Order: sequence, then C-alpha cells, then structure tokens
Amino acid sequence: MNIKTKLTLVIGALVAMIVLLVSLSIVNLQILTATEPNSPAAGPGLQRALLWISTIGGFCIVIGIFMLAVLPSYFNKPIKKIIDGIKDIANHNYDCRLNLESHEFKEVSENFNRMAKRLSDYHSSTLVQIKAAKNYMEAIINSVKEPIIGLNNELTILFINDEALNVLNLKREEVLQKSAQDISLRNDLLRRLIRELMDSQKENKVGKTEPLKIYADNKESYFQMKYMQINKPGNNNSGSINEGYVIMLKNITEFKELDSAKTTFISTISHELKTPISAIMMSLQLLEDSRVGDLNDEQKELAQSIQDNSERLLNITGELLNMTQVESGKLQLKPRITKPIELIEYAIKANRVQAEKFNIQIEVQYPENKIGKLFVDSEKIAWVLTNLLSNAIRYSPENGRIIIGVRQTDDNYIEMYVRDFGKGIDPRYHQSIFDHYFRVPGTKVQGSGLGLSISKDFVEAHGGTLTVESEVGKGSCFTLRLKA
Ligand code: ADP
Repeated sequence: MNIKTKLTLVIGALVAMIVLLVSLSIVNLQILTATEPNSPAAGPGLQRALLWISTIGGFCIVIGIFMLAVLPSYFNKPIKKIIDGIKDIANHNYDCRLNLESHEFKEVSENFNRMAKRLSDYHSSTLVQIKAAKNYMEAIINSVKEPIIGLNNELTILFINDEALNVLNLKREEVLQKSAQDISLRNDLLRRLIRELMDSQKENKVGKTEPLKIYADNKESYFQMKYMQINKPGNNNSGSINEGYVIMLKNITEFKELDSAKTTFISTISHELKTPISAIMMSLQLLEDSRVGDLNDEQKELAQSIQDNSERLLNITGELLNMTQVESGKLQLKPRITKPIELIEYAIKANRVQAEKFNIQIEVQYPENKIGKLFVDSEKIAWVLTNLLSNAIRYSPENGRIIIGVRQTDDNYIEMYVRDFGKGIDPRYHQSIFDHYFRVPGTKVQGSGLGLSISKDFVEAHGGTLTVESEVGKGSCFTLRLKA
C-alpha cells in the first residue's frame, strides 16, 4: 500500500465516522422530536442519542489525536534520513547508506546507496593516485643530490630531502609540518637560510645569494643558496598569490677550490713575471742612455716599441696581482689621512706622458677650501684614480679634453670624478663594465678588462661606491664616492 492510498483510507475513515455520527444524531433527534416529544420514552432516547454522539465523537477525537501525533513523524522520518545521508556525503563520509523500507522511498534509498558507493570508489581511487604521485615526488626530491627544502608561505616545512636533513643535521620527523622559524631557533644553519630568504625577499633580489660556508661531510663546504617563490594564479586573473618557497643549496666547494687554485696560480705567475719584465725595462733604459753605444733611428723605434709593450705587460701583471689580492680575501688596507688633491696629482703625474702623446688637456676642478680630508689607503685610491684617468685618455679622441675633480656633498661625502668627452658607453653595459675581464664589444683599444672591476673592489673595500654615467657619443663620467 503506498502513502497516497494510506492517506486516502485514513482521511476517508475519519470523514465516514463524522458523517455517521452526524447522521445518527440527526436521525435520533428527529425520531424523538417527531413522535412524542413529551412521552416518558423521550428522556432515555435523548440520553441514548447523546451517549452515542459522545462515544463516536470521542472515538473520532482519539483517532484524530493519534493521526496528528503519528502522521507527521511517519512522513518526516524518511525525509530526515535522506537529509542526514546528503549531509554525510557532503562531509566526505562516503560509507553512509540509506535503508528506507516504505515503498516510495525504497527507490530513493537504492539510488542514493548506488551514488554513495560510486563516490566511495572514486574517492579511494583518487586517494590512491594522489598518494602514489606524492610518493613519486618524494622519491624524485630524495634522489636529488643537492639539499632541497619546501616551505609554505607561513614558513612551515612541507618537504625536505635526505641531503638537506644531512646538511642541517635534523631528523625528518622533527621538521615535517613544523614551523621553520621555530626549528631555526635551535639550528644555526636553518636560521641563516631563513634569514637569507627573508632578506632577499625584502631587497627583491632574484633568487640567488652569497655562498654559505657550511661544515658538512667532515669538511668545510661552500653552498650557493638559491630559492624559488612558488606562485599560484590569483582569482579573476588578479595577479598571482604566493604559495611558498623552495630553497635549494648547490654544493660549489669543488668550484671554490678550483677558483682558489686559479687565483694562486695567477698570483704566482704575475709575481714571477714582474722580475724579468723589470729586467727588460732596465736593459732598455741602458740602451736609451747610449751607455752601450748609440742606436740608429730604426733601433730606437724598436727599443721604444719594446718599452711600450713591457710597460703594458707590467701594468697587466700589476692588475692581475691586485685582482688576486681581492679574490683571495688578502686585500689589506693601510689607511691614513689623505688630501684628495694629492691623489689627483698622483694620477695626473702617472698619466702625463700618455696624455701628452695624444695631446689631451686635463682640467682639474678643485674647490680648495670646501674639501675635507679622506681616511683611506692612498695607494689603492690613487691606483683607482690613475686607472680611471688612463681609461679616459685611452677612450678619448686625440686633442680631447678630460676633467678630473672633487666635490663635497652635504651629507659629508667626498666625490672624485673623471669626465671625458670620448665615445661613451652604451647603457646596456653600465653594469657589466665592472665585471672581471669584461670589455664592451667592439672596443679596439687594447686592454685587459680588469681595471674597472679592481677599482670597484678597492673602493668598496673602503665602504665607498664607484658609479658611471655615460652616453654614447657624448662621453663618460666615473664617480668615486667616499666618506669624508
Ligand atoms: P680595459 O680598459 O683594460 O679594457 P676596464 O675594466 O678599465 O678594462 O674597462 C672595461 C671596459 O669598459 C673597456 O674595455 C671599455 O670598453 C669600457 N670603458 C672603460 N672606461 C671607458 C671610458 N672612459 N670610455 C669608454 N669606454 C670605457
């Protein structure tokens, strides 16, 4: 029997009872009043009729109350079960099943159970797949021989490979899903990594920092820290959202060792070359002085050429020696109080012959009374100015003009500048000219590409800066800025 029939029967029975009650009472009362209203039988007849009416009426009320109590829950129960089932599914409880007996809900519960089973099968299969993919990723990360650490944007460690655990001297269970900042309180290296990461974030550096010296594998090792920011596209194409970071450490110990071997080699060779070059120059001096006989014009020309090239060779070995000093960290400054004009005069003197050769005018801008003194290694800074002036001469046309000058800034810095009106430098190369061995492509003038990089190192070792302003065809201005 379906609900509709049940409902029809119940309501039908109720209506029939009410009709029966009403008709019985009407018939009874009619009979009573129609026959003998004043007869003695009318009293008990009326009583009987009232008894019937109240009995049947009471019975109807009881049935009514019963239906009122039972019917709502009868219909509500299966609907509630269905709602609970849907809630379970929404909460990913795919094991829930419905067991509704009544005819019309049976089909609903069968379909619901079928759906739940399919969802459960799908869920367990995707879980297995996700787990397999995760294991696969972990195997890849672990097989990488460089330390790798993955963090979310709150710096919780999401993954870390064996190599990183080894270098950091940590255990996997101690770090996974833990805050890197908390762990870094008791781990110096992790603290450095996090600090470098945060610093590079603040300074907006691109994923690479200074090498880290780490004691690993029972020896001092050098690691280059690299990091990647993991970004996810934002909603409605509104830029990207930072999801976290991956820190990678590249072991560069081998390269460092090779680099240091190279530096030692260059340093030894340059040093060894200085003595024979000086001997050649001394011999040339003797030839020039005509102490060993007069030279004819052709011989003089050859001697001059040998002299020029020996000087160049001596310059190059000097530059190489300076470079190795910086690279090996052996650069020792001997600062003393120095007047900037002394440095300028030294640089002009060192370049006088060269400037005269190309008929170049050197102009000095020096506001005597306004310039303070410097506390610097005068040899090194004089070398820098000499090199800048030599470049200005070499990269200027014949009969050109060069300005060398000093000014003092309001924030108490002394700026020394060398300005030429030569070929200038394309802005593309303004950074690279300060790199070792870099020469602007197409530069015909001979050179080693070392002068500016060494100059920058020397100035920075004093806490100063060396910068360039230049425009192709208009000339260049190199400025050296040091604390007064
Ligand atoms: P070198 O001059 O020995 O090649 P430097 O390190 O002094 O090495 O200079 C690097 C490069 O920068 C030069 O090769 C040259 O191309 C460019 N350069 C340096 N100074 C000047 C200048 N005053 N004018 C134009 N180009 C310059």
